[in-house]
Amino acid sequence: MHETLSPRIEALLAELPGIEAETDPVLVRLKSRDFYWYSPVLKPQLDGKRGEVVIRPRDEAQVLEVLAACVRHRIPVVPRGGGTGNYGQAVPLEGGVILDMTAMEKILSFEGGITEVEAGATLMQVDAWARQQGWELRLWPSTKRTATVGGFVGGGGAGVGGIAHGTLREPGNLAGVTIATMEDRPRLQELAWGKAAAVNHCFGTTGVITRVRLPLAPAMAWRDIAVSFADFASAAAFGLALGMADGIAKKMCAVIDWPLPSFFKGLAELLPEGRPVVLAMVAPCAMGAVADLVAAHGGEIEAEQDFAAAEAAAELTPFYEFTWNHTTLQVLKRDKGVTYLQCLFPAGRTLETVAAIRDRFVDELWMHTEVARFGGQVTMSALPVVRWTTRERLWEIIAACEAEGVAVANPHVYTLEEGARWKLVGADRLAFKHAVDPHGLLNPGKMTSFTPRAGQEAAE
Ligand SMILES: Cc1cc2nc3c(=O)[nH]c(=O)nc-3n(C[C@H](O)[C@H](O)[C@H](O)COP(=O)(O)OP(=O)(O)OC[C@H]3O[C@@H](n4cnc5c(N)ncnc54)[C@H](O)[C@@H]3O)c2cc1C
Repeated sequence: MHETLSPRIEALLAELPGIEAETDPVLVRLKSRDFYWYSPVLKPQLDGKRGEVVIRPRDEAQVLEVLAACVRHRIPVVPRGGGTGNYGQAVPLEGGVILDMTAMEKILSFEGGITEVEAGATLMQVDAWARQQGWELRLWPSTKRTATVGGFVGGGGAGVGGIAHGTLREPGNLAGVTIATMEDRPRLQELAWGKAAAVNHCFGTTGVITRVRLPLAPAMAWRDIAVSFADFASAAAFGLALGMADGIAKKMCAVIDWPLPSFFKGLAELLPEGRPVVLAMVAPCAMGAVADLVAAHGGEIEAEQDFAAAEAAAELTPFYEFTWNHTTLQVLKRDKGVTYLQCLFPAGRTLETVAAIRDRFVDELWMHTEVARFGGQVTMSALPVVRWTTRERLWEIIAACEAEGVAVANPHVYTLEEGARWKLVGADRLAFKHAVDPHGLLNPGKMTSFTPRAGQEAAE
């Protein structure tokens, strides 16, 4: 159904015969959204924002063709993967084209422990393929089933595997990307290793990622375990000790305060009332050592399953789908009056700082931390669930966290600058943006410190 398309979109589509395009307003609206509604602050700001057409290229040649036509018409382009981002990263602020990358999902090669995949492949597809070769993804977001590799690079970067490998920003976790530029003559550009930082967590403002190269890890038949504790302090101490136990191979360790586990459908039934839990993925050969560590911290193993079997079975849930930002989702399914924060606790003072924040806001914040490595040190990041009252109160909690030395990546703002710890986009990224998107047509409004140089302003 072609409703009232603007003349510029009519003209654009006339130049792109043979490339899949969707203009049905209902579908375009659906593909204009992500999970920004987690934030009661962002919801009213982004609710009406939408693109004008969804274009779904099937290969790099089509990506270049679409971008070239959009540059000619000065039409904004927002790349999109699974649309699972949390801060309106994939929401078009200025209309234009939503570039749906999900038709580009091929696994291209595997050599020397590195796989090259098209950006629209889901992390689930890539992990499943890797496992058949005896390898696995080092890192995946808890949205593994629907999130794409390109979206993980463009909008995410932490998750399951972080306890062993750190974040995607850690040198060595991203071998490179290929991007399509938004210059007058769009072209493909390869960014290897450290150079890929120019697109890492840039919300698609610095090029359309067409391919991603990921170093893999040897596959492991991970065991999901749920361990309960009498109090949060014991659970947190166990979590950190597991993170630091170098002889125990592990993939994940989340520390989750009560009552959050009571929201976990399918798992809550197996857990005792009132006790905080640790959900972890550990190597089968480490189960004996884990049992010792559990006993030393006064915990009880309440549930155990094979993670891969749980991932494959419709009636089961792998435990990672109760962790990272799935914890918040599990609560939101039953209680719409909550939201969340994203914190990083200082290494060396992890447990004290977690306790200080938890104790101070005990009436309105349910603590949930993820044990992870950052820059070679084991600490905890956190996605605490927060009872929503007002923006002012949320900002007060953020300020109190920062005063304790906790870094907060504010998930209630949609620009790169406001969400960043230093409230700016680095000069190198800004320079890269000028080079690859001189007219500022890629996801405009998300990198606010960028202004096109004279003569390169976008039309309209
Ligand atoms: C329940 C829940 C749990 C989550 N857990 C995690 C987690 O554990 N770890 C984590 O890091 N995140 C997490 N997230 C956020 C999100 O799921 C991830 O960041 C995910 O990797 C995004 O992938 P996507 O394909 O859905 O990206 P999208 O939402 O489609 O896009 C994200 C951003 O990347 C850009 N982008 C997408 N594709 C491309 C491309 N090909 N080229 C250039 N830019 C592109 C988009 O423009 C957008 O700015 C979670 C979100 C939810 C709702």
